[in-house]
Amino acid sequence: MKTENFPKEIRPYIIPKQKGQMVYRCLGCGLEYGIEKLLYTCPACGQVLLIYDSHFDRLKDIPGTLWQQIFDYRKMLKIPALKGIYLYHEFIGPVIPPEAVVWLGEGHTPVVEANAFMQEKAGGKFYFKNDGQNPSASFKDRGMASALSYIHFLVQSGLVSDVLAICASTGDTSASAALYASYLKPHIKSAVLLPHKKVTPQQLSQPLGSGASVFEIPGVFDDCMKVVERLAENYNVALLNSKNAWRILGQESYSYEIAQDFEYDMENKVIIVPIGNAGNITAVMSGFLKFYETGVINALPKIIGVQSEHANPVYLYYQETDAEKRKFVPVTVKPSVAQAAMIGNPVSMPRVIHLADLYNQKSDRQNVFFVEVTEQAIMDWELLANHNGHIACTHGGESLAGLVEARKQGIIDEKDVAIIDSTAHALKFSGFQEMYFENKFPAEFEVSPKPELVNAPTLVRPDDLEKVPAPGKPLEGEDFEQFVRRTSEDIANRLDLKAISD
Ligand SMILES: *Cc1c(COP(=O)(O)O)cnc(C)c1O
Ligand SMILES: [Zn+2]
Repeated sequence: MKTENFPKEIRPYIIPKQKGQMVYRCLGCGLEYGIEKLLYTCPACGQVLLIYDSHFDRLKDIPGTLWQQIFDYRKMLKIPALKGIYLYHEFIGPVIPPEAVVWLGEGHTPVVEANAFMQEKAGGKFYFKNDGQNPSASFKDRGMASALSYIHFLVQSGLVSDVLAICASTGDTSASAALYASYLKPHIKSAVLLPHKKVTPQQLSQPLGSGASVFEIPGVFDDCMKVVERLAENYNVALLNSKNAWRILGQESYSYEIAQDFEYDMENKVIIVPIGNAGNITAVMSGFLKFYETGVINALPKIIGVQSEHANPVYLYYQETDAEKRKFVPVTVKPSVAQAAMIGNPVSMPRVIHLADLYNQKSDRQNVFFVEVTEQAIMDWELLANHNGHIACTHGGESLAGLVEARKQGIIDEKDVAIIDSTAHALKFSGFQEMYFENKFPAEFEVSPKPELVNAPTLVRPDDLEKVPAPGKPLEGEDFEQFVRRTSEDIANRLDLKAISD
């Protein structure tokens, strides 16, 4: 819709204005820094940062109900810069001008209700939010759209030039970083560091296809991360890991979209997310807090973070119920089918500690929970979901297994409705499905297939057929006729089909 056709009271707000004053704030010592340059940790104390708008309170001058209308009407605009995460411009990057926004189709992913069978299995109503339907097939595109729009803004302002964007990755960060950087050629080039043999072939193909420099490093993600941190400390590069607080801002859009999709009614809602480096759960909490503070939503939904037994440092931290006694201890990860979350020392842990505390406080009760699930449960729930119309990745399976575990523990009420995060597309992790179907999981995964979930193709080649077609060698005449007849009879037999009687 054209702006002049919007209702008079909406028109002044429909196109966001460049406003606000964004600063990096240290979660350790509280010092603030300007955003004219890229900063990842506090120069004074080394702690991670978050970005805040010092003029955030101005957003409270607009009533929550008006914000709702602004966002709903904005969905009718045909302006690319406002079609993705920047539909929520004032809450994500109010200082970023629309000309700097990079939109490659990310955001506004579908929320799909589970069928009756799945709801019964999982013990209540739930939806998958399919973040695998982003351009690089994972939620990481939300954060990259924000980080790269900001770098684009610095380039356009003449503050930086010839940027080399760099990241360590369990696969999806590099796919996304390489994609967004390639769009901004020649101003921005990208290099990605991956743990050798610890990303799927599909994930590896993505940065290669986008033309990034791809480096494989021995070890696991945590080792790659150390190398990238060293590079970022000693060389002039732009770090694109979630240590970069711009990523967190973009990922807050996940919460804003859920709010909008449920008509801003967050009573009795439960948000379930898998945790790896913990950037995602940080952003989800931060997003809901901002919408709650400005009256855009009526309640703070319950949040449940899920980890695999094989990579569970956040879960273990919160096992200690006395907050005073909690002490973070990194873990050594074991192989996990939730491979993108196979992280033993999450960079965003201080952010989680800070925000979970604040979230519980603002909720007036404990409203953030952490559960752990087995590798077996992750695979079984993923495959069962996908047998019922979903396209969940292993991390989506992890979230669903987390929902079932949380219900078992009584963390979730009967009437609660869950929205669970399928963080990537099933196809990225189809190798784990294959291992399950062929019963080829190495022992350390601790996964054995359930026969009812296993599937395999059947080769149809009737023994009595002398000739079959081959590529470049088609059959003709009676041979072809015979091939079609016998093959269809064979399939009809196997499927127990009844012939149409006349
Ligand atoms: C990155 C990633 C995660 C983990 O998210 P964090 O922000 O690192 O906690 C989970 N699932 C998928 C598919 C991912 O790519
Ligand atoms: Zn500090």
